[in-house]
Amino acid sequence: MSINRREFLATGATAAAGLAVTPEWPAIAGASTPAPRVALPVVIASTNGMRGVKVAYDMLMRGEDTLDAIIAGVNIQELDPADQSVGLGGLPNADGVVQLDASCMHGPTRRAGSVACLEDIATPSLVAKAIMDYTDHIMLVGDDAKRFAVDMGFRTQNLLTEKSRQDWLRWKARLNASDNWLDHDDDVKIKFHTGTINMNAVNAAGDVSSVTTTSGMSWKIPGRVGDSPIIGAGQYCDNTVGAAGSTGRGEANIKVCGAFLAVEQMRQGKTPEQALMYTMERVVAMTEKRLLDDRGRPFFDLSFYAVAKDGRFAGSCAYEGGDFAVCDASGARVQKAVYLYKANERPRGPVNGRR
Ligand code: ASP
Repeated sequence: MSINRREFLATGATAAAGLAVTPEWPAIAGASTPAPRVALPVVIASTNGMRGVKVAYDMLMRGEDTLDAIIAGVNIQELDPADQSVGLGGLPNADGVVQLDASCMHGPTRRAGSVACLEDIATPSLVAKAIMDYTDHIMLVGDDAKRFAVDMGFRTQNLLTEKSRQDWLRWKARLNASDNWLDHDDDVKIKFHTGTINMNAVNAAGDVSSVTTTSGMSWKIPGRVGDSPIIGAGQYCDNTVGAAGSTGRGEANIKVCGAFLAVEQMRQGKTPEQALMYTMERVVAMTEKRLLDDRGRPFFDLSFYAVAKDGRFAGSCAYEGGDFAVCDASGARVQKAVYLYKANERPRGPVNGRR
């Protein structure tokens, strides 16, 4: 999608009037016609947040705080040992150690918290919030972040489940055909993985919050920090505009500060769909050659989610087929994401730029 100069001027004019004015939107692949206004509150998340959006929505209906609600929503995945992309049971780094990243923002008070490379504590979203609530800092990392969390009363536990340990061993065994680890047929299924949960909410009063939590890329180099704990990349919110967040290849998102970019595009008058498509285009434009096919299409995918203060929302992917979770007055459901490229345009090649 590209917005021509006339449309750009139109959206610029509406920016001054705020998001309440809906200009005519150019067509976007996979998008329905502009959605009718939805009743507030609204909670959106990556698809693994299907259970969480309902929990968060119910809390908002009871008048609870937006950030408390979405953190309760993502805690469900963080504490679920079967979800191998976050918290307990998350896939480990190359050394077999689960290292977690998370960040959050609270729109009404304009505060943020973040934690990276956190070990042994299942709920990094709550640690990020504790940093926000109890310190004058925004981000703590590694052993010092863990010490802070323990001082704050968080319980430590071994986060490496038997399933994730087995997956890591199989990945490790196949790294080098000439090493002393024997390869097995089922090892071939153990590939590189990503996975994360981002959740964003706007309540009936128009207050906004955002949170993202992850175990990051599986088998990452120890100490690697992805986009999830980077304020402005993994998530961002501005109470006067809305919120956005991301899941997928963090290295691609960090370079465009995707969540911040999406919120800023909404501030300038774009719909959530337009803002996310613009952000996806920036991701592709900023991708290094080794991760693009000969037509300039990325080997990886990345998802963005955005909700405007007035309740409009969207999800986006590079390739057709992505979806996201939403809960509003119509209930909790999965909706299709808008996309840049048709599914059959997806290049055959390394998954996520990696084999
Ligand atoms: N964005 C996460 C990261 O790069 C991973 C993911 O969402 O799958 O750490």
